[in-house]
Parts: sequence; structure tokens; C-alpha cells
Amino acid sequence: MIDFEKFSKYSKPGPRYTSYPTAVEFSEKFTYDRYIEKLQSQDESKPLSLYFHLPFCRSACYFCGCNVVYTSKEEKKDRYIDYLTKEMEILSQFIDTKKEVTQLHFGGGTPTFFSDAQLERVIEAIHKMFPNFSNDAEVSCEIDPRFLTKKQMDILKKGGFNRVSFGVQDFEPKVQEAVHRLQSFEETKRAVDIAREAGMKSVNIDLIYGLPYQTFESFKRTLDMTIKLDPDRIAVFNYAHVPWMKKTMRKIDETTLPHPSEKLKILKYTIDFFTSNGYKMIGMDHFAKPDDELFKAIEKGELHRNFQGYTTKGGSHLIGIGLTSIGEGDDYYAQNYKEMNFYEKAIDEGKLPFHRGVELSLDDKIRKAVIMELMSNFKLNIPRIEKEFSIDFKKYFADAIEELQEFVKEGLVYIDDQKIEVSPTGTLLIRNICMPFDAYLKKIPEKKRVFSKTV
Ligand code: SF4
Repeated sequence: MIDFEKFSKYSKPGPRYTSYPTAVEFSEKFTYDRYIEKLQSQDESKPLSLYFHLPFCRSACYFCGCNVVYTSKEEKKDRYIDYLTKEMEILSQFIDTKKEVTQLHFGGGTPTFFSDAQLERVIEAIHKMFPNFSNDAEVSCEIDPRFLTKKQMDILKKGGFNRVSFGVQDFEPKVQEAVHRLQSFEETKRAVDIAREAGMKSVNIDLIYGLPYQTFESFKRTLDMTIKLDPDRIAVFNYAHVPWMKKTMRKIDETTLPHPSEKLKILKYTIDFFTSNGYKMIGMDHFAKPDDELFKAIEKGELHRNFQGYTTKGGSHLIGIGLTSIGEGDDYYAQNYKEMNFYEKAIDEGKLPFHRGVELSLDDKIRKAVIMELMSNFKLNIPRIEKEFSIDFKKYFADAIEELQEFVKEGLVYIDDQKIEVSPTGTLLIRNICMPFDAYLKKIPEKKRVFSKTV
């Protein structure tokens, strides 16, 4: 029996490790010219992975941490597509856009807030610039079930999309009201049915725990409704409350947020619920049916974590296109401008709208490999890291191993010469378990850490 009260002591600010170094370390020290050099010198054999940020939404959901532009003006969206097209043209001066593409993701914002014609135009422009999609490319789109027509789904399908991800978060009306996002079960079911009828290979549902007024009992109801939709994958994210970074989060009454012990109880129940319903857990917040390709990737040690979650298509060169999007190469992260005026100005000047990023040192690469493997597989193959980076692991990470002893004593982590292994209960605290390997975190006093809480 897990003592959730005791575990709530681990609720402290910490990264989600969708990247290492985390975005907090991105800066303008990584210059435009250096970024261009990096783009031009990436491993030629690596395929491309493309992320497009389509930032428009009609109204704000208060929990949302994305970079969003609220508008109802069609001309704003048309103008944005013009700029995306120009950005791709500029990009083609620096990378071979005829290379194989193994992954394309539309994130937002609400991609289906674009009209039929706009959606068609974006997809056509992408295929014109990147004509070489692999047959098994993972092509996915985030969808708000409140804005989806059958026509849009047909356009996505025709454009090669095979995965859709529906934002649900919570079905409880009181929770929905508090986060300013009313969405009935029927609306969501209608959208899921449209996706299935169109023949989408994979339907994903996103949930969030830790939202206002959520309780263990209320989230159980949300899980019961979710399973009725028979999703192929489910992502259950821990709500990241960062009102100092996102203004709309200030509209949430903090006194209504569930206590860390309640959140841990919810998470533990969620894991048991999906596993007893035939799903398997992937990484810290995803579940999938056992025949999902993600599991084959785990067996082969090929599961990767990136800004979109977990993927089998690691080892590709990720290019972020559009406002605020982030790209990732062998040894860098690069982010575009967040502000539309700067984004457009750069493109008008014939430059990529690159704003900032980070170039990875050898130490960053070693720590990234360790953290990403733990986040993905909950275990670490020590000899593999030693061989890849020519280090003596226990010497290199003596301080981290020392810090982990707290978790070892609690039975949450097991360490020997060959491996570090996180216990099933330890997976609830995986962010805390990765934190000792983070060299940057140590330099920031705990009070000054701007991350969301780990629990
Ligand atoms: S959660 Fe989705 S629909 Fe809501 S504001 Fe954020 S991006 Fe828009």
C-alpha cells in the first residue's frame, strides 16, 4: 500500500524533460549563424521529422500552457499560412527538403480551427516542399473535438495523416467550467467516430490530472467515459500550474487544485485502471494497447522522448516550423520566435525566424542520454552509456548516485553495476529520479526554480 501522504514530500518544482537541457537554458548565445551551420552539418543519413505549430484558437482554456493566438479572423490564419510557406522556402536553402520524412506533427493551438480550404493549403504546401514521405511515416494532428468536421478529417486523411490526438482533459462539468472548456462526452464521441470512419490508424485521447475541483472520485468517472471511446493511446498529463508564465492560469483558483497526495492517488489509480483494461504504460504519462508499435520500440531500446511525447521515430532531425516551434538536432535545440511580429519580420528579411536555443556540450549529451532513457524506459543500461561516451559511469555520476540513495532506501530505485531500475511505484516520481542527473538544476536554488511541481 503506497503512503501517498508521505510521497507528497516529493512535490517540488522540476522539469518534465521533454528536452535536456530544458527550455530554461535556451538563449541567444546560440546565434543565428551557428544555427545555420548546425542545420547544414547534420548527419546526412538521418531522416527528417517535422513539427508545425498552428497557433490559433477561438477562446482560452485556462490550463493551457501552449503558445496560442486567439482570433476569429480568417485573414490572420491565411496570412500565417503565407508565412509558413515562406519559412519553408527559406529553410530549403539550408537543408535538403527532398530527404525522407518519417514524422510530421501538427500542434497548436487548434489545427482544425483552420477552415477546410486553409487546412488543404497548408498540407499542399508541405508536400510540395517535402515530397519524400516514407511509407510508414507517422503523420499526426492534435484536434479539439469541438472544432472538427467530416470534411476536415477527409482532408487530413487525403494528406497522409494517420494519427489523431483529441484534447479531452476531463469530462466532469464542474472541472470543465473552472478551466473554461465545456465539451460534452457526445461531442468527443462524435469526433472520435469521424476519425475512425475516415480510417485513422490511431486515435489518441489526452487527459490532464491536477485540474481544479478534480477529485479521485471525479477522475474515476472521466476514466470510465474515456475507456468507452476505445482509444488506441491515452496520454495522462500532470497539470503544470505556472501562472507566473501563463496569464490565463491566473484565472484558476489555486485553492481548488487537488492536493499532491490526491494527485498521486489519481495517478496510481489511472495506471491500475488502464493496465487492468488491457493497456500498457509507456514512459511516465502514456498508455497504449499491447500491439502498439511503441512496445516493439521499447523492446529494441528505440523508444524516444521529444516535445510531442514518446515516439518510435527517434534518431531523426527534428525541424520546428511556425511560431515558437522547437527543433532538435544531434547537438542542438533551436526555437522560433514566440511573438508574431518578430516571426514575420525575420521572414520578411529573408531569414529563418530562429530566436534562441542551446548547443549541447559533451556533458549535456551524456546527461541527455541518461535522462531520456530513464524517462522512456524506467531503466538505464549502464555499460551502454559507458561504451557510448567512454566514461566510468559510477565515477562520472558519483554525486547523482549519492542523491538517489534516498529513493534506493525507499525501494523506489535499484542500482547495481549494470543498471539503474525504477520500481513500479518509483515511476510515479520519475521526474524527481531524473533530477539528480541534471547539472543545470543544481545551479538554481529550489525557490527560484520556475518549473511546475513534479507531483
Ligand atoms: S488547450 Fe487547446 S483549445 Fe484550449 S487554448 Fe490550449 S491549444 Fe487552444
